[in-house]
Amino acid sequence: MATAIVTGASQGIGACIAKRLAKDGFDIALNHYPSDSDKANAEKVAEECRAFGVKAELFAADVSKYDECEKMVKDIKEAFGSIDALVNNAGITKDGLLARMKESDYDAVIAVNQKSVFNMTKFAASVMMKQRHGRIVNVASVAGLYGNAGQMNYSASKAAIIGMTKTTAKEFGSRNITCNAVAPGLIRTPMTDVLSDELKQKMIEAVALKRYGEPEEIASVVSFLVSDDASYVSGQVIEISGALSM
Ligand code: NAD
Repeated sequence: MATAIVTGASQGIGACIAKRLAKDGFDIALNHYPSDSDKANAEKVAEECRAFGVKAELFAADVSKYDECEKMVKDIKEAFGSIDALVNNAGITKDGLLARMKESDYDAVIAVNQKSVFNMTKFAASVMMKQRHGRIVNVASVAGLYGNAGQMNYSASKAAIIGMTKTTAKEFGSRNITCNAVAPGLIRTPMTDVLSDELKQKMIEAVALKRYGEPEEIASVVSFLVSDDASYVSGQVIEISGALSM
């Protein structure tokens, strides 16, 4: 059985990706932030994954921490035997106009959104290289492609992920490892629930499909990218935004 790691899998897009890959037949290593509430939520997601007849286990780690990622990947390899897919999904926002953005808010977003991709890719790709097979999907954002006022930190982290995706595709391609990114637009999750109604309305007006995207609509593209059908797709960024940018 193939194994997929999903980071930040306790809610939102990560939870949805975990369930979709379980439905596809992957055993799931669910990473969650080490807090009681994230653990409880992740356990519910794991239960839903197991309902598809696959193995699903929880792995607590703050993915911005290098040592925690190293230990987690080692533990997952021991528990599951292989690592076939890695979805770097965990992410946070700490929005504000640049003039008022605190240095600590910049550093925190870069650490969770960007450094985590360095950490997890380094350790998981080392396992995949030995297997001569692997699929990596990074969750970027339209903010990384086009920028967004109030998101200097977030857009920097997501633009970096796109560069890291292309570099990973080039460095590991000869070992039969693909790496792609998805760039979601406005998706209905706890991350966007906190936006003001006025901002939500303004953003939806800019979307050609005139509605939110659902987390399932991100998960289905990730499902394709980790499948055999996507065996010759690598180094690409797939925007999933209902034509927000057009
Ligand atoms: P969310 O806030 O619902 O979920 C984020 C998950 O990441 C949570 O489970 C959280 O616990 C986890 N996480 C945060 N910091 C972590 C850490 N240090 N270690 C481990 N886990 C951590 O948000 P979401 O909307 O589901 O976002 C998922 C991904 O999609 C993020 O990378 C986000 O930037 C990206 N994204 C979301 C949208 C959107 O509109 N919702 C748009 C574009 C991109």
